[in-house]
Amino acid sequence: MKSMSAKPIERISACHVVFDFDNTITDFDVLDDIVSRFSINKKWVKLENAWLKKKIGSEECLRGQLKGVRVTKADLLRYLDKIKVSLYFQKVINLLRKHGARVEILSDNFAPFIRRILRKNRVSGFKLYANNISFRGNRLVPSFPHRNVSCFSCAHCKTNNLPSERRGDKILIYIGDGNSDICPAKKADIVFAKGTLARHFEKSRLDYRKFNSIREIYNFFRSYNVSKTKNN
Ligand SMILES: [Mg+2]
Repeated sequence: MKSMSAKPIERISACHVVFDFDNTITDFDVLDDIVSRFSINKKWVKLENAWLKKKIGSEECLRGQLKGVRVTKADLLRYLDKIKVSLYFQKVINLLRKHGARVEILSDNFAPFIRRILRKNRVSGFKLYANNISFRGNRLVPSFPHRNVSCFSCAHCKTNNLPSERRGDKILIYIGDGNSDICPAKKADIVFAKGTLARHFEKSRLDYRKFNSIREIYNFFRSYNVSKTKNN
């Protein structure tokens, strides 16, 4: 397999750690679930299939799918408040921040939803870049401040929001699962992947580490940190 970087991790403080949200921090795709749960018809299925066949990009798909969603703000907040994220997510953030690493979440979901879920799960200490959304009655109105106008693929171009200070001994670690993670993950020194992202890296013969849950990411940094501490 082609190795993306020979850079070893010298210390956790040199790490920029970037997490995707849906299916990475959560164990299901929250946005897909919102669309299927609150849609008034099945038009979203056609759009999903067109997106899967790459006939339309994520922005067109999401705009179309959200046109069919009807939900009050109160009902949606009630739904979001039931979503649990892995206990290991706060643990890994605490560990990384304790040792001075920078943590980002990059998502093609919507920032107000993600903030609500993570606040309810008592997770803090990260920088978040995601799409935006507002309520108009019982309709959801999206906006896409991080779109790359020269590329139709993703609603949020995550590559543009990768940490910019990449000089010197900084190590970029990317953790994700989906289509929108492919471009930014290719810029990373170490990639943890599952799902579509793992299949793409496998097919492209790029180096990556397979993961299933955030617990494995926590154990990776923890064992690294423990062995470093023992050696010092
Ligand atoms: Mg994802």
